[in-house]
Amino acid sequence: MSKQQFQTEVSQLLQLIVHSLYSHPEIFLRELVSNSSDALDKLRHLSLTDEHLKSLVGSSIAPPRIDLVLDEAAKILTLSDTGIGMNEEDLIAHLGTIARSGTKNFLSQLSGDAKKDSNLIGQFGVGFYSVFMVSDKVEVFSRKAGEEKTFKWTSDGKTGFEIAEVTGDEARATAGTTVLIHLNEEGAQYANSWRLQEIVKKYSDHIAFPIFLTYDKSEWNAEKKESDKTRVTEQVNAASAMWQRSKSELSDEDYKEFYKSITGDYEDPLFWFHTRAEGTLEYTTLFYIPAKAPLDLYQAEYKGGIKLYVKRVFIMDDSRELLPQYLRFVRGIIDSEDLPLNVSREILQQNKVLNSIKTASVKKILSELKHIAANDKDKYALFIAEYNRPLKEGVYGDFANRDTLLELVRFKSTKVDGLTSLAEAKERMQSDQKALYYITGGAESMLRNSPLLEIYKKKGIEVLILDDDIDEIVFSSVPKYGEVDLKAVNKSNASDDLKDESTPEQAEELKPLLEKIKAALGDAVKDVRASTRLADSPSVIVSDEDEPSARMRQMMQAMGQKGMPELQPTLEINPDHEIVKKLLAHSDDAKVADAAWLLFDQALLLEGVPLKDPATFVQRLNRVLNQSI
Ligand code: ADP
Ligand code: MG
Repeated sequence: MSKQQFQTEVSQLLQLIVHSLYSHPEIFLRELVSNSSDALDKLRHLSLTDEHLKSLVGSSIAPPRIDLVLDEAAKILTLSDTGIGMNEEDLIAHLGTIARSGTKNFLSQLSGDAKKDSNLIGQFGVGFYSVFMVSDKVEVFSRKAGEEKTFKWTSDGKTGFEIAEVTGDEARATAGTTVLIHLNEEGAQYANSWRLQEIVKKYSDHIAFPIFLTYDKSEWNAEKKESDKTRVTEQVNAASAMWQRSKSELSDEDYKEFYKSITGDYEDPLFWFHTRAEGTLEYTTLFYIPAKAPLDLYQAEYKGGIKLYVKRVFIMDDSRELLPQYLRFVRGIIDSEDLPLNVSREILQQNKVLNSIKTASVKKILSELKHIAANDKDKYALFIAEYNRPLKEGVYGDFANRDTLLELVRFKSTKVDGLTSLAEAKERMQSDQKALYYITGGAESMLRNSPLLEIYKKKGIEVLILDDDIDEIVFSSVPKYGEVDLKAVNKSNASDDLKDESTPEQAEELKPLLEKIKAALGDAVKDVRASTRLADSPSVIVSDEDEPSARMRQMMQAMGQKGMPELQPTLEINPDHEIVKKLLAHSDDAKVADAAWLLFDQALLLEGVPLKDPATFVQRLNRVLNQSI
């Protein structure tokens, strides 16, 4: 027998489980049952598609079932399944290392604060190792389907594990896995048949396979006036694919438990949508929105949350083909009557049936969300707090559903506290307001203080504050909301709508100054113009309509975008500002040049653009300061 060390991450996880999960040790059973259920799903699927395994059904492949056997006196609990099983390599790979990227990701997010960490762990499910909360010695006997040998994996859940082949009584007669748990002090409470039944009901009632419990049942013997113990085996779960039952038969509790059983989440989902489609295509979908966004939501390697079944047979999970990427936070199942059982991931991508189910599912999810937005604002706010951003990705990427998605996303605004919808902002438009305006390109506080908003404030026009880093890309692709134009206030043409103040004479009068400023700034600017959008500030920079904003350029450069032309914004000058009026009267060109640069540099700073030459800026500032003191 060879002793092997756990991978470092495993030891780390084990430490954490034992130290911070004591509040819910019972979940070890849910985890083990779900592993057995996964193993049975896999084998059921393979034995329908793989000719060799098909031929073993009835001999070394037994009917699917899960058995819990309790030895109360010895405090030993065994959990067996007739699933796919594991050979020696599998045992090492699956129980000795952490293969799941989600787990690694989880470990990297740990804060060291036990309370926070146990919340994290709850969101994500701890898997097999949770058994070490209730045991200091676990033996796993497993025989892989289609193979002859049984291997035994043993561990104390501390340092490492041992693996050896077993024969005779210890060998399994059929494929599958047996987990033998020597319950420790903490685990002793589970050497109790009531407790076990209660936990199975709670977490695993809807597992598609029967779970049997074998235990010593006490029955009152009226003659002897004492209770007799008889060894019995009883089925303890409903073993039905719950999503196949009709909505009217299912309680909220049923839905919530099922959600927890498929996701490992401790928290109730925010809401769920259960649909059965009949007609050309027959299928059932049950979608859940988790209360908290999945940890891998913003990772390229995210896991899809939808399990695909064909006629109740599990086909695959975490496929990314089942819903569009922006709905990657949705959890649940799709069960189709029309797909072939041997459908592969590659085939899925072009499968017509699945594409129709997918299209209909997206429509369904979005329309349900719209319904909630209209009827339960508080609940919708919880949803938006987690998922506004993926919805924006949808606005950008899902053209077919853009109109609906635009109704669903929410925005900060200069007019309301909290968040608002485009529909509400449209309601609030002034009678002569020509468009809905928004500002992008920085943190909320910076945007709210931007000189670009001055004219809108003065006129009482609402501006939406789009402070998410993807907002500019997303909304520059959306020219209209219904009939109404959507305009970014930092684009050069947005203020044309607001023109009415500057008279032609004023424009004539300003021309020479604008030219002087332009001459001073040279190539640093594209143009210098009189502004109609400023009230209190003397200057501001804007970009052309088809150009990324200054801030956006910085982001693109930071992300490694090469070969971008130099930033060449347009500088706008406020003709009504005291400084500009004084400049008009000034004939000293050197002073005008200093002023021109200071007006430009301050406008850049307010946009969050770092100055290229801060030393010259400071020299100039000091020169001007010196003159004014
Ligand atoms: P997860 O189930 O999320 O993959 P676990 O820690 O629960 O993570 O299990 C790790 C792996 O061990 C599983 O993915 C599976 O490959 C294997 N495994 C665990 N239990 C069984 C079982 N009863 N039958 C077959 N394989 C199993
Ligand atoms: Mg598991």
